[in-house]
Amino acid sequence: MKANSVSLDHGVRGHPAKNSTAAKLAGIVSRRWLSYVGLFVVMALGIGLDLGLAWYMMQITDTAVLKEKKAFIDLIVIGLCILLLSVTVNFFDSYLKSKVSNTLRNDLRIMTFHHMLRLPSSYFDKSHSGELLTRLTSDNQAIGQALGNTLMMLIRSPVMAVFSFIYLLSIYWPLAVVCGFIGPLTLLVGKVFGKALRENGKNVQDLVGKSTGFLQDVLSGNAVVKAFQLEQKFYGKYKAYSGRILARETKAGTLNATMQAASNGIGVSSFIIAFVLGAYFVINGKMTIGALIAFIQLLNHVTWPFTGLAGLWGSLQNALGSADRIFEVLEQRVEHTRLPESAANKEDERFVTLELDGLGFGYDDGKKMIENLSFTVEAGQMIALVGPSGAGKTTLFKLLLGLYRPTSGQIRLNGQATASMGLDRLRGFFSLVPQETYLFSGTFRENIADGRADATDEEILAAAKHAHAYDFIMKLPEGLDTEIGERGVKLSGGQKQRIAIARALLRNAPVLLLDEATAALDNKSEHLIQSALEKLMTGRTTFVIAHRLSTVQRADRILVMDNGQLAESGTHDELLAAKGLYSRLYHMQFKTQAEELG
Ligand code: ADP
Repeated sequence: MKANSVSLDHGVRGHPAKNSTAAKLAGIVSRRWLSYVGLFVVMALGIGLDLGLAWYMMQITDTAVLKEKKAFIDLIVIGLCILLLSVTVNFFDSYLKSKVSNTLRNDLRIMTFHHMLRLPSSYFDKSHSGELLTRLTSDNQAIGQALGNTLMMLIRSPVMAVFSFIYLLSIYWPLAVVCGFIGPLTLLVGKVFGKALRENGKNVQDLVGKSTGFLQDVLSGNAVVKAFQLEQKFYGKYKAYSGRILARETKAGTLNATMQAASNGIGVSSFIIAFVLGAYFVINGKMTIGALIAFIQLLNHVTWPFTGLAGLWGSLQNALGSADRIFEVLEQRVEHTRLPESAANKEDERFVTLELDGLGFGYDDGKKMIENLSFTVEAGQMIALVGPSGAGKTTLFKLLLGLYRPTSGQIRLNGQATASMGLDRLRGFFSLVPQETYLFSGTFRENIADGRADATDEEILAAAKHAHAYDFIMKLPEGLDTEIGERGVKLSGGQKQRIAIARALLRNAPVLLLDEATAALDNKSEHLIQSALEKLMTGRTTFVIAHRLSTVQRADRILVMDNGQLAESGTHDELLAAKGLYSRLYHMQFKTQAEELG
């Protein structure tokens, strides 16, 4: 890790933090303390320069009034020095602010993604991916800005105001006292509007998140949109979303404008009062003209910070709304303490015995999906899972993979309870071909290589050949290096499935989970792949969820699931003879296929 990189752990793992959002943000900001030290040094120099400029204006005016030529020459040199310093300080001020803001945005982005990658499946069931996306994009942007310019200005303004006020007192205290009462009034304005702005800001971000999720659905499902002629419907829906965002933004605009106007009114009135009173004191000989000019310049620093503070406070509140949304993710309970390594293919665990002992499970809605499921699979066996749709077959795969925790009972792999095993180790046992093929944007090579990080080109090609994907890949001009498009849009269902099979073959884990792995293939391709899979299944424990007769018939044992329970188990012949659910399913579902296959 580089010296300036930060720890990715947010420190709050799994328990909603009691600290305020600001305190949590402070924790993140503190990791970049060195940059802030630089910013504070620049700020101190800037404040000194601003005060120096007021002094300079007083000196040069009084010198002109008194016609002191020698002092005038000295003041020209001092003026040049002030200019030079001011340009330098300005550069570093802007540079460091954008640096700290970009670095913190980067820190937060990777921290949030790192956390997201460790969140359990149940969290993703509840949250739309598009909505989660906005937390990494627009929320992240808002926070970055706030932690750079906004934060520094919020700190600088009151400090500058205090120093300017002290200087004002030294010039002519009665005038300073009168004006000094007015500036801080704007703080009250900020307090009144701040909360409303923050809540509104959070609402805007929530709406942006929802509409982004909606957009993502519509854009990636554009074929269905066209086929079902949903354009009008979705256009109306998006207009409604967009209108609600606009209404919220308009409200924020109104709140901001009112707040700014109130602060500005207070600022301007203090100026007018200062001018009128100042002129009166000059007429009465209590102040020089130079002192009045310095006074007005300094007053600018006493009132402007407060005036500007209201706007800054508003954008800080907005950013805190965004921070709330990011911390909501960062405080979710994670399933991994660190990112797992790809850990398949352990030679010493080739032969895996799998036992299910009184397994029970329900999703968050509390409904029991799997009840008291017990069976043992000997190492190297091929097991077929059949049953009506919704019986819980895929859910069982998810439990095996540790995507969800069983509510009762145990799963044991080679005698060891999976609950006492790290998730990395547990998932290392399995190679999955999911029901819904999911590929990532990138090339064929990259997608197959997702099966195993250290795979060689030969191994990738061998996996593609076994999955009968080699021929169609090689027909493309760029072969393995062809881009597959977003989630494989450029491929047919069967082609995608073959890539998913190649990926699983390459992973080469001891237990193979095939969830309708050949459902999208035609009979011929299925037959070819089946023989490849069978080679792979030897010496490996395999679970197959399939409707196709050919696969199921060859299984060492068929487990028939119904309503989350084991209804029957046995070989094809035994189950047919038993004339139970399997036999009924067989006659209903597999008969036609059996006839097709002859
Ligand atoms: P099968 O693979 O046997 O067709 P599944 O295991 O996919 O069945 O689903 C079993 C039941 O679990 C279904 O009724 C489905 O609605 C429900 N289910 C699946 N996934 C979830 C989820 N993430 N949250 C809530 N219910 C779910």
